[in-house]
Amino acid sequence: MSKDYSLYPGRFFKKSERLRSHHQALSPLFAFYSEEPDFAGHLRHLSLDTSRRRTIYIHIPFCTRNCTFCNLNRIKKLPPEDYYKLIIREIKTYASYQYVSEGVYNAIYFGGGTPTTLSTLGLKKILRTLRSSLTLAPDAEITVETTVFDLTKEKISMFKEEGVNRLSIGVQTFSDKGRRLLGRKGTAQEVIDKITFIRESGFQNVGIDLIYNYPGQSEDELNKDLSNIESLDLAGLSFYSLILHPKSALYRMVNTGKCAPLGDLKQEWNYFNLILDRLLKRGFSFLELTKLVQPNRDSYNYIRIRYENGDTLALGAGGGGRLGDVIYFNSPNLNIYRQQVKSSVGLPKRGFSIDYRYDIAHRLIGKLQFGQLKQVDLDFFKEDSKYLQRLTKDLVIDGLLQTHSAHFSLTRKGIFWGNNIGQEFARVLVRLLAHKTKNKNK
Ligand code: SF4
Repeated sequence: MSKDYSLYPGRFFKKSERLRSHHQALSPLFAFYSEEPDFAGHLRHLSLDTSRRRTIYIHIPFCTRNCTFCNLNRIKKLPPEDYYKLIIREIKTYASYQYVSEGVYNAIYFGGGTPTTLSTLGLKKILRTLRSSLTLAPDAEITVETTVFDLTKEKISMFKEEGVNRLSIGVQTFSDKGRRLLGRKGTAQEVIDKITFIRESGFQNVGIDLIYNYPGQSEDELNKDLSNIESLDLAGLSFYSLILHPKSALYRMVNTGKCAPLGDLKQEWNYFNLILDRLLKRGFSFLELTKLVQPNRDSYNYIRIRYENGDTLALGAGGGGRLGDVIYFNSPNLNIYRQQVKSSVGLPKRGFSIDYRYDIAHRLIGKLQFGQLKQVDLDFFKEDSKYLQRLTKDLVIDGLLQTHSAHFSLTRKGIFWGNNIGQEFARVLVRLLAHKTKNKNK
């Protein structure tokens, strides 16, 4: 069947697929990575910068089940008994570096996998160690990702006591049929009852993940999902069209005809519009490419700080972060991670130096992620800004960007194609910045 090109905007994307992940948008920036062999030495020599905003990311790569669509780094089992102790040990090792212990952290994010597969005691001890070993801002945003069924009443009450103030629940859909297809546990009614209980327990900032355009999803099912979102009075939602990862169980099911095929791009666009039409009318506003929030209920500081080139202290197997001008990754292999944490240095092995060129490009892509670009962001490039001006002009002609007096904003179509636009900017920025010297003072 030939492709319907009417949905593909003009000159840039005609031959490419819609990118659905911000990692793809950022991928050209790998050009600015260079291996950093001495991560501990780097930390010792960093001087404290109190103006720098910081986050902490804690990766818990365990899940009690394998969702059929998922390709994330996760292990299908409960965390081993020592996992929370390894994280505590990691926190204490990092805290021995003045740069880490004295900087102020504005946001903490427990991600996975499913962080709530850890025991209540383990999670509580991690939260307490973070407070006793590091410096948290009094109003720090503390997020825990969870599934409805791993978030027990005991954990809800412990989170309340320990200052967790943002819950991100992987619901994906309220349709019982859809939930079975995606490998999610429990019925829609059980999900609704649990979220109602969480809200009644006093959590204001509760959001969910929603997947749309999964195989066989009808418009009626999507409308019911949106009705549930409206009636549960959620602070926000992240909405993703289903990505059919070649290694996922769902991919095999689609390819062997065990379930319906994935809806085409036209259906994806129609469903995307349905979500925005209904929820914007309902008072939600656009925060970033895949995020809608209720005004003054959720500002998602964690992701803002990362795009502003703030620090992220990453902990746990498979976690990735940044301290100063080094980006680093913990091994996703549990045994290697355990050995590294227990070694005399106690720090991960893979670090990559970046420089101001990465920061310039990353910040600009971040602004696009949040839907807006200022004219001064382009003027910064002086004589080279003509290349970016040309790109923005073409995007305006294609109906992806609109101009205002001193800034550009993504149109609805621009939001839909936002990661492609981000990647296009990243490519141009890498070309413009590559010939600049690494030392910005030269
Ligand atoms: S979608 Fe979430 S809960 Fe499901 S397997 Fe992936 S990480 Fe685990």
